[in-house]
This record gives sequence, structure tokens and C-alpha cells, in this order.
Amino acid sequence: MHAEIISVGTELTAGTKLDTNSQWLSLELAEIGIPVLAHMTIADELDEMVGALRTAAERSEIVLMTGGLGPTLDDLTRDALAKFAGVELILHEQSLEYIKSMFAKRNRPMPERNVMQAMFPLGSDPLPNPRGTAPGIWMTYRRADGTLSNIAAMPGVPSEMKQMFRQQVLPRLDGSGQVIRRARINLFGVGESQAEEALGDLTARGRDPDVGITVHEATITLRITAAASSIDECHQKIEKTREIVLNRMGTLVFGVEDEELEHALVRLLKLRRASLSTAESGTGGLLAHRLTGVPGFESCYMGGVVVPTNLAKRELVSVDPMLIRQYGPISQEVALACAKGCRQRFGTHFALAVTEWPNFDPDDPLAPFPASFVALAGPNHSKVEKVQHFGDPAIAKSRTAKVAMNMLRLYLIEG
Ligand code: AMP
Ligand code: MG
Repeated sequence: MHAEIISVGTELTAGTKLDTNSQWLSLELAEIGIPVLAHMTIADELDEMVGALRTAAERSEIVLMTGGLGPTLDDLTRDALAKFAGVELILHEQSLEYIKSMFAKRNRPMPERNVMQAMFPLGSDPLPNPRGTAPGIWMTYRRADGTLSNIAAMPGVPSEMKQMFRQQVLPRLDGSGQVIRRARINLFGVGESQAEEALGDLTARGRDPDVGITVHEATITLRITAAASSIDECHQKIEKTREIVLNRMGTLVFGVEDEELEHALVRLLKLRRASLSTAESGTGGLLAHRLTGVPGFESCYMGGVVVPTNLAKRELVSVDPMLIRQYGPISQEVALACAKGCRQRFGTHFALAVTEWPNFDPDDPLAPFPASFVALAGPNHSKVEKVQHFGDPAIAKSRTAKVAMNMLRLYLIEG
């Protein structure tokens, strides 16, 4: 059994409004073990809606529709349902009374157009809408081969749709008798395809539990989805997969669920009773911003400076201007000098530094990838790494800040 979702509205196909209903409904259906085969987005056009209904109802046992139930002329969902089923629209007295009472409650006369909202395809059931005037529509369609498809049409307004789905539609769906639980594991330091290779059969289609890979600003997230007859069983399945991931990916794994690298780093610094300061150029304070966003950072993060100019580098982290002249501001030498000077200035165990990066034209295919340097200075260790900015320039700052934090994280774990 699977479902599909049709969202209706020209504002959606025109791109002026984002279809969030389909996403929300898909997540809700997954919770009761019903997979979603397709999303369709259709403009307010009668024949196209009828076509979409035919396609959906012939291939899916559950069709959820949102939008187009309003009283205005462009709201055509009820007409589309009637035309699709080959039946008339008939007045449902109780719904009309209810709509009238909604207007009375608001001290407003009911416009004649709203009578439309009490019209239903013959053989369908109204779905009450406690939040608005438009009732939904529940309809069962017999397919060519004699099997059934259930169709629920709900309002487009997300708050009305959600309430109607939970109160009226969900109880009418059988579900698969299975529960679903999810877990996320976060990794940093490899590319998506490298991670996929290292994970091997874990990400194969049809594996139980299912493991998917997504990447956001260079952080890789493994999404584990387990389906079973009980929540306990789901957790056991997830735990087994988590162990396999940890075995294969080792220290690349830094956290779970919403944890970011800064959370992992602060946790490790606290554990080691170590302190950190930062000196940033290209990342413009992003390291400081991220680290100070972690609850309880005060016991390990002592502060940071932004040093985009030679003057700032000299005044704030004591970098010799001669060094900058000799090697240039974007160099290993200057990165290291910034980190060492920062460590001195704040009197911390560790300091991280980031250089600026060159301006470049992302549309010039011959231009070399711009690069910056990040450096780590510690009590008996210093290290520098080159960060090349290929890919989306919009994530260069975020990625560089992560590379810097990951450098110290790995040092604290591995020494
Ligand atoms: P309708 O039921 O088509 O009159 O839609 C009412 C309002 O709900 C629209 O003006 C949209 O702002 C919103 N809406 C409709 N469909 C969606 C959707 N799929 N996702 C998010 N908002 C929607
Ligand atoms: Mg609409």
C-alpha cells in the first residue's frame, strides 16, 4: 500500500508560494508506515486536476489532496472530484448550516458563493473543519480492476489541513500496523561519495533499517529509518546499525541528531579541562559565533578576535608585519603566527586561526580554486591545513569554520 499527494494552487506552480503541505503529510504518513510514491503540484485548472486524480487513484490506494476548496471561482477541487467520479455535486444541508453558523459567529453575512462549500460529489462524505468554513471531502473510488482507492481533499491553509488530517483523515487510514523511528548520525571530514563508499552495503536500497545520506554545508548526515511492529524493536534495529556505522567511520562521526561540530568540540574541551581562543579573518567571527552558541561554552571558550587587516593582526595577535610581507596574508606562516599569537594573548591551551581568502570569479572556469589556511596552536603542537573552496562559494565560511573546529576535535581525540 502506498499514498500520493496532490497539492492544488496556481500560486504553488507559479513559484510564489512553497508547497509545505506535501512535506508535512509525507512525514505524517511515514509515522504510520505508509510510504509516499509521488507528489504532484497542479495549477487551478479543472482538466489537469481531473487528470492528476485519475493517475493518482489508479496507482495509489490513498490520495491526499490539499487546496482549492475555498469559495472563490478559482477553487475547483470539488468540481474536479465530481467530474473525475462522473457524478453531480449535491447540497449537504448540515454542512450549509455549519457554514452559516460560522459566519453568524463572526457577525458577518454569508456571501452567496459560500454555498459552494456545502456542495459535495454524490457518494462522498464531508470532513468537518473546526478551524475554517471549508469542509473537506472523503471519497472512495473503484478502479478499473475493482480495487479501491481512498481520496481525501483538505483545505490548503496549513493549520486547517493539519487539524483535519489528524482528526478526520488519519483515523480512516489503516496504516501498515508498523511504527517508524528515525535517528541521525553526523559526520565531518569526507565527501558524500567517499562516505557512501565506506558505508558499503549500509546504504543499499531495500536494506532494513534504511540508511540515507544527506549533506549540508559539508556536514554529512546519515538518516536511519527503522520500521517494526514495536518502538522497542525499532530502537534495537537502529542501535545495531549505529554500531556498524561507528565501526566503519570511526572518528569521522562527531555527533547525533541536531549536534554540530561546535557541540562536539565544547564537550571534548570540557572533558580535557582545556581552553580555547580564536583569531579569524576569512570567517569573520563565525567560529566565535558558533562556539558561543553552545550552552556552557564559558568554561572552555575564552574569546576571539577578528583580524582581517595587517594592523589587526599586529595589534591583536602580535603578528610581525614583515612575516605578512614575506609570505602574504594567505599563507601557512601567517595562519600559524595568528594562532600562536592568539594563544599567547588569551592565555589558552589552544587557539584556532583562519586566514582570509582571495577574491575570485566563480564563473571563470580557468581560475584556480581559492584557498585559505586554518591553523591550530597548542601547548606542544601546532598544525596548519589548507582549505580549498570548490563547490558553492556561499558555504565557504561555514565549511572553513568546520574544518578548523574539526582539526582541534581530532587532535583532542587522537592526540
Ligand atoms: P486554498 O485552499 O487553495 O484556497 O488555499 C488557501 C491558502 O492556503 C493559499 O492561499 C495558500 O497560501 C495556502 N496553501 C494552499 N496550498 C498550500 C500548500 N500545498 N502548502 C502551503 N500552503 C498552501
Ligand atoms: Mg487555492
